[in-house]
Amino acid sequence: MFKKLLLAAVAPFMFGTVVAQPTCGTDEMMRNLRIEHPELVAFEAEMERQIREGMRKIDFTKAAKSTGADQTNNDAFWYDIPIVIHIIHDYNNYNTSVYSGDFTPDDFIFEAVKEWNVVFAKKNADTADVIPPFRKWIGNPKIRLHLATVDPSGNRTHGITRRRSYLTYRGGEQAKFDGWPPTSYINIWFINKMGSGNSSAAAYAYYPSAVTYIPFYDGVISLAEYMNKGSKTIPHELGHVLNLSHVWGDTNQPGVACGDDNVDDTPPTKGHNPSGCTSGSVYDTTCSRNYFKLYVDAAGHLDLVNYPDTNNAQNIMDYTYCDKMFTKGQVMRMRIALNSNVAGRNNLWDSTNLAATGAILPFPDLKPIPDFTVTNPMSSSYLTKNANFVFPGKDVRFTSYTTNDTVVALNWKFENGASVITNSSTTNFTQAFNEPGWVKLTMTATGNNTGDNSVTWDKACFVADNTGTNAVGYFQEFNPEGDVNKWPSFNYYNNEFKWQMDDHGVWDNHCIMYKGYDERLSATTAPINGTPRGDFDDFYTVPFDLTGYAGGPCNLNFHYSGASRSSSTASITDTLLVDYTINKGATWVNLAKLSKGSLCNKGTYSTPYVPTSIMDWAPKTLPLPAAAITNYTNFRFRYLPGVSANGVSSSGNNFYLDRVNLGPWAAEASIVNNEKNTVTVVPNPTQGDAYVLVNDAYNTKAEITVTDITGKVVYTTVAPIAGNHARVLIPAHVLQTSGIYLVHTLTGNQADTRKLVVY
Ligand SMILES: [Zn+2]
Repeated sequence: MFKKLLLAAVAPFMFGTVVAQPTCGTDEMMRNLRIEHPELVAFEAEMERQIREGMRKIDFTKAAKSTGADQTNNDAFWYDIPIVIHIIHDYNNYNTSVYSGDFTPDDFIFEAVKEWNVVFAKKNADTADVIPPFRKWIGNPKIRLHLATVDPSGNRTHGITRRRSYLTYRGGEQAKFDGWPPTSYINIWFINKMGSGNSSAAAYAYYPSAVTYIPFYDGVISLAEYMNKGSKTIPHELGHVLNLSHVWGDTNQPGVACGDDNVDDTPPTKGHNPSGCTSGSVYDTTCSRNYFKLYVDAAGHLDLVNYPDTNNAQNIMDYTYCDKMFTKGQVMRMRIALNSNVAGRNNLWDSTNLAATGAILPFPDLKPIPDFTVTNPMSSSYLTKNANFVFPGKDVRFTSYTTNDTVVALNWKFENGASVITNSSTTNFTQAFNEPGWVKLTMTATGNNTGDNSVTWDKACFVADNTGTNAVGYFQEFNPEGDVNKWPSFNYYNNEFKWQMDDHGVWDNHCIMYKGYDERLSATTAPINGTPRGDFDDFYTVPFDLTGYAGGPCNLNFHYSGASRSSSTASITDTLLVDYTINKGATWVNLAKLSKGSLCNKGTYSTPYVPTSIMDWAPKTLPLPAAAITNYTNFRFRYLPGVSANGVSSSGNNFYLDRVNLGPWAAEASIVNNEKNTVTVVPNPTQGDAYVLVNDAYNTKAEITVTDITGKVVYTTVAPIAGNHARVLIPAHVLQTSGIYLVHTLTGNQADTRKLVVY
């Protein structure tokens, strides 16, 4: 009994611990936007004018003096507003008990929306904990948020979209790529992390005036963990959407100086962060002693309203995290904002719009939407998430990410060559495949009373060959008549930045190209592909049998041709990672990390780069460690597109790769280019004979191999090195066809390759 009394005694407010909490990024983002677009100040002025005009119609004296029903809430009208929740995710399961992850379940979203509506109906139980001076100032917004049931295309929906994107890790305007028309729906995006420009924010939103200018910014963006968490982060952000400032104004420097928010019944305050929900915050009178306002009533008499002499730290627009209330004045402003044409807020609750968005229709029962991931159960690194390249006989894990309805049954049908494999797990399972090539997957989900829905992926995963391809004499020219269909590429995030086959090869019409140039509608518009920051895309080789090169040396050679969009070295941030595995994907070992700066052999191009001649290509050689020389070694090329100094658009341009081969020679000549060991081919270009001049202090003979550009050997000879020098003839009769030849020189274990042009 004593305990209960004690609890009752402290119940008026709960004091939390003093912890610096992630805050709201609205002020920061608004300030940036004003610098970027000074024009929007005019829209802000217009919004404020409409608010003031609306306020003039309200008798504040009555509002202040009433105790029960009051002026602001005499208006019985409830605003019904359609909303859409966009889940931007990377299949990180949302953990509802520890509030982390980004793939938030439907049911958790439904619960969260209910909680927001409790606050906007002033039904949150913690209003009972508001300190006595503010109890009569608690306002009831009378706003009902409804998940839309009709999308902009007229299809039925639960008002929830799910898109996989790396942007979940760098939340910002770019993550808003799938917004619905903001004059018809309030868009609310949930992501995993904020980007570097606003990394300390839990969430942010823009005022109506700002988004009049840039509608696609309109709405709330928040970390998924703040969807509910017992906090009122989303009601706070929706306050901004309806033109409420923070209670100390819009400085984004709470705790510094007394400020005001143009709302009379929220007394001036410094705001409270990181001080948090302490008694000192809740009863802070620093800025609000003797705070009153004078009004002129309808009869022209002056009337004084004495507002509380302590600040309203329990206000939802403060940062104390003991937020419990909007004031009546804030409610007035929100409701007037909803009647303003600025950013089309007055269209949101218009009856025509409510019908078009299905906001007040009964919530529909819809069929499930099948989805899945394939991961590598053998590895714990992030690389495992995209295990769509599968080794024969090795387990990979399939996990269902089916949403939109309760799934009562799930059928997985894999077509692996001639064999059909099925599974009925509704969660996850491991599966191995034996037939090389693409595996087709059909998922059929049975909903609760809604029937079946099937989705087929023709390229769910790719199974590698059972045995390694002999690397001796093997050249990958990306010619469709070869085995290029065994070199699969994966565009995990399903966007325009990706590997694709191209017809501008070194010597033929075939190569592979990374599309790094993001198209623009015009020079002044944003890139249509969005930022590539965070993206990565892979292509894989066949498994190789390298035992023909046992004892080494063995190099991975390829030709490349690349350019940059930016001439600023700091802006060239693309990266090419080359990795290999010798244990069928249990571990991948990095062979090379090549920065685009070293791969831009063609300098700067402001237009989409395309190589036009053989001279646009350069060789690259990556020596393999002895451990990589096995009878089953597989390589992966991973491209990470970079961003330019603005942090958004891509810095890169298209990157081309061709003639992948493995052998003792080094396609890249510079690898042995030093003072005591040099190789020169003269004359070059030639119309007749050519000579290889070898300068070598360590070896006694030079082995010369001349190949044409296809790799076909046209001449071999061995010459003695006498007095550190050799002069070796390549006779004109082996160079009868004009074009490019490669001269490979092997001295001891040093390999060198030079280009020889015959015309
Ligand atoms: Zn805020």
